[in-house]
Amino acid sequence: MSSSTDVARVYLVGAGPGDPGLISLRAVECLRIADLVLYDGLVNPLLLRHTNAVCERTARTRRDGSGIVPQEEVNQRLVCEAQAGRTVVRLKGGDPCIFGRGSEEADALEAAGIPFEIVPGITAATAAAEYAGFSFTHRRISSAVAFITGHEDPTRSDSRLDFDAISRFPGTLVFYMGLSRLPEICRQLITSGMPADTAAAIVCQASLPSQRVATGTLSTLPEVATAAGLKPPSLIVVGECVTQRERHSWFELLPLFGQSIAITRPVQQAGDIVDQVVRLGGEPVLMPMIEIKPVDDSTSREIARRLQSLLDVDWLIFTSVNGVGEFFRHLWMSGKDSRAIGHCSVAAIGTSTAEALAERGIRADIVPQTFRAEALADALAPVVGGKKVLWVRANRGRDILPTALKQAGASVEDLVVYQNNDCQAMSPDISQRLRDGTLNWIALSSPSIAKQFLRMLQEAGMNANQLRAKIATISPVTTAAVQSAGMNVAVEAGTHTWAGMIRSICEYQREE
Ligand code: SAH
Repeated sequence: MSSSTDVARVYLVGAGPGDPGLISLRAVECLRIADLVLYDGLVNPLLLRHTNAVCERTARTRRDGSGIVPQEEVNQRLVCEAQAGRTVVRLKGGDPCIFGRGSEEADALEAAGIPFEIVPGITAATAAAEYAGFSFTHRRISSAVAFITGHEDPTRSDSRLDFDAISRFPGTLVFYMGLSRLPEICRQLITSGMPADTAAAIVCQASLPSQRVATGTLSTLPEVATAAGLKPPSLIVVGECVTQRERHSWFELLPLFGQSIAITRPVQQAGDIVDQVVRLGGEPVLMPMIEIKPVDDSTSREIARRLQSLLDVDWLIFTSVNGVGEFFRHLWMSGKDSRAIGHCSVAAIGTSTAEALAERGIRADIVPQTFRAEALADALAPVVGGKKVLWVRANRGRDILPTALKQAGASVEDLVVYQNNDCQAMSPDISQRLRDGTLNWIALSSPSIAKQFLRMLQEAGMNANQLRAKIATISPVTTAAVQSAGMNVAVEAGTHTWAGMIRSICEYQREE
């Protein structure tokens, strides 16, 4: 983090075209060190998980469509924030300097004496071509490619676009920002001498699960596009290369292509599943049912006091990955480290918790076969008699474990190291998607998550029987809970994990 008295650096960073995997390592490094991220309207919000900075959408088109933010205002904001000592990432869709005004922002920073760096991104055009299945250049088809703005009115006499020159260009033409002017662009190209049967395509929402591609010729494309009801952002590609699509399509063939899946995990734990869904061509929609938060300051102080000496503890028990993370964070903050538990035996409820311990150099002595409090209690019962057990936990949870351990003769103390609370309401965006049927799947990972989902659904004014999304569950107990609430289950996971649930959704989609 920067000190607040220095002028900080501004990073003008390309976020890539939409697929959250198409961002550079350097861009992620910048996001990690940022204090403030100002992102534009094309940036996939999933990228914001790479940062702890304050994030603000600063797009030139206002979200409510009520006009355009002057570029000068954005430039000024960058300058002021850097002067206040904040490391700023200006995150822009695609590449910051391809129709991205990155150079105008750089000019303003240079004029104000603010140090800056520019991080290139994968521009929409290259992603559109490759995710749609064609290549702009090809030894036999095209040896050049031109990126052109389609935003200018080609019929205006002061247009800087020279359509006579463009139509003679010896290669592929790519028009950014051209959807609304598609008929004029095609007409102008034909008038300027391009054959009316030149192959052309429109690629919308390139590299996203909502990607749509329409192909035709300069004379047919406007009609094809209207019939397909295509929506921006989209690119117009003119040239023979678009005919490769029939052979080289791959993205649209992925098993979850076009499917949106609501992930009910806490945001901090959703990363792996988000990646899995994206790589399968689907759209992960974060719909956390539970919120994980650190404890308040006074509880932190109590924890620090407790951790001053753990010599009285024989067994340390961890029942979640968060518990491990927060325990070691508190230990470190209180000036101690893992040597403070060197004499303790350690138990973990499941393999993920054991892995979190292993990452900190701690080998769990006991990990039960099945991920259940009952199984952990059974495994511990023979060894904890007469021993002091410290259970590292969240503010709420079932009492099965302490009750069973006390019955086995242990003295049990619990240490609450993080908060686990129900999320209050569904975001308006998600409830709208549930209502209009544009959310395809809800993945439910426990009976309590299922109940919580039903509660949120009802609070958003919907009944279980109005739900158009399909439900996937992690296990038979979750299925039973969903069915008893009057909802149908389309898929139950073969393996009772999140990854297993996503795999089972893929199998269902393959059979569709
Ligand atoms: N700097 C960006 C372009 C910004 S101009 C880049 O390098 O990609 C905005 C235009 O980019 C849109 O009107 C559209 O033509 C194009 N665009 C951006 N993202 C797109 C996407 N995912 N699919 C298709 N076109 C996209």
